[in-house]
Amino acid sequence: MNSNPSCGPNSKEGMQGMRVSRRELLYGMAAACAGLAVPTLSVPQEKKVMLRVDAARLRKLLEGLSVYGQPEGGTFADGVSRFAYSDADLAGRNYAMNAMREAGLKPRIDPAGNIFGARAGSDASLPRIMFGSHIDSVPNGGNFDGDVGSMSAIEVMQTLEENHVMTKHPLEMVTWSNEENLVGSPLAAGGMDKSVLSRVFNGIRAEDGLRRIGGDPARLAEARIPPHSFCCYLELHIEQGGTLDKAKIPIGVVEGIVSIDEYEAEIHGSANHAGTTPMPERHNALLAAAKLIEAVQDVVTREPGRQVGTVGQLQVFPNAHNVVPGLVKHSIELRDLSAEKIARLGDEIQRRAQEIARETGTEIQIKKVDHDPPAIADPDIQEKIEEAAAGLGLKTMRLPSGAGHDAQWMARLGPIGMIFVPSVGGISHSPKELTAWQDCANGANVLLQTILSVDRR
Ligand SMILES: [Zn+2]
Repeated sequence: MNSNPSCGPNSKEGMQGMRVSRRELLYGMAAACAGLAVPTLSVPQEKKVMLRVDAARLRKLLEGLSVYGQPEGGTFADGVSRFAYSDADLAGRNYAMNAMREAGLKPRIDPAGNIFGARAGSDASLPRIMFGSHIDSVPNGGNFDGDVGSMSAIEVMQTLEENHVMTKHPLEMVTWSNEENLVGSPLAAGGMDKSVLSRVFNGIRAEDGLRRIGGDPARLAEARIPPHSFCCYLELHIEQGGTLDKAKIPIGVVEGIVSIDEYEAEIHGSANHAGTTPMPERHNALLAAAKLIEAVQDVVTREPGRQVGTVGQLQVFPNAHNVVPGLVKHSIELRDLSAEKIARLGDEIQRRAQEIARETGTEIQIKKVDHDPPAIADPDIQEKIEEAAAGLGLKTMRLPSGAGHDAQWMARLGPIGMIFVPSVGGISHSPKELTAWQDCANGANVLLQTILSVDRR
C-alpha cells in the first residue's frame, strides 16, 4: 500500500543517493567535457562500498545521552529517569539538539514539543522520508528504549553528511516528546486534542511541561502533520520483548503494532457474613471473578497465534476478610495484530462469563471501554527492511509489536515501517534494559540502508 503516488517507482536513474563525493562528481563532469572516459557510477559499485554508520560514534552518542537522568553517583548500568518535561528531559533534549547541529541539521521544535531536523534532497517536489523515535523514559527506565532510534537517526544524518550523500527525497528526523504517555506523536497525528493540556504527567501539568520544552500550548493545532504529506515514516526501536534474543536473530521486521481491546468486568454477587452463610447459599463475586480470569486465559491460549490476554486490575468490595465478596470489578485486555481476532475472543469471553454467572449465582457485565486499531506496517517497506538487512548480511524475522510506539500514530497519516533490535532477556522499562552495541549499530545500518532504498524507488 502506498498512498503517495509521488513516492512510487521513479524511472530517473539518478546518481543521488549514491556514495559520490563532490570531487568525484566534478571530476566526472570535467572528464566528460574533455572527452575522457568517465568512471561509471553504477549500482553494483555502490553495493561494494555499502555506506555504514560509525558504530563507535553511535555508542558515544548513547553514552552521552545516558548522563541526563542518571541516578546520583550512578553509571550507565544504573539506568535513567528522564521522564517527560523533567529537568533531565530538558537537558537530554538539548544534548540531542546539539548532536543534530553537529550532524548539519537545524533543530526545530513544533508546538507539541517534538524536535525535527530536516535535510534537503535533490528534488524538493518529492515528499520527505521521516524517521526517528523518542528520548524520554519511564521513571527508573533503561538507556535503550527510544534512545537507540533517536541517536541512530542523528548518526544516519551525520553519516550522510560526511559522505556527501544527496538523497532525492528530503529527509526529516524527529524526536517525539513525551512518548511514554503518548502525547507528542498523537498531537502531530491529530489523535489527541487540547484536553491533554490539563493532564498531569509525573507531577507536571502537560501545559506547563510543553512550555518548558519549547512547545506552545496555544498553537497545538499547528503541530498537525497533514495526511499523505510524507513518503514514509521509519522507526528503529529495541524489541522490549525476548523473541529476537531467544532466536538469536539481530533484526526484527515489525509487521505492525497490535490492536488493543480493553474491557471492564463487573460481577455482582451478594455480600454476606463469612461465618453464618452456608457455602451452597453464597453468591460470591470473587469466586466468579476467579473463574472468569481463568476463562480469559483459556480462551486466549486455546488457539494458535500470538494473541495475549491479561487481567491486571482487580477491585474487591467490601474487601474484608470476614465478608463474602459482594462486588468485584476487574479489567480484561486483549491484544493482537488482528482486530477481528480479538473481537471474536472478546465475544467468547462474554459467552463464558454468562455460564460462570449461572454457575455461581452472580450477575456479570463486561463492557468494552477502549479500542485501539492495529497499525499495520507497509508491506513494501517490510520487504525493503529485509533487503537492507540481507545486504548487510543480517538475518531477519517478522514479528508484531505488542508495545505501543510513535509509529502507530504516524500510520494514520502514511506508510510506516519499524526495525527492531534484540533486548537482552526481553527486559525493558528497567535499568537492566540492554541491547548489545553491535545490535545498536546493526539497527542503525539497516535504518540507513532502508532510507537509501526507499529513496531509490
Ligand atoms: Zn519506546
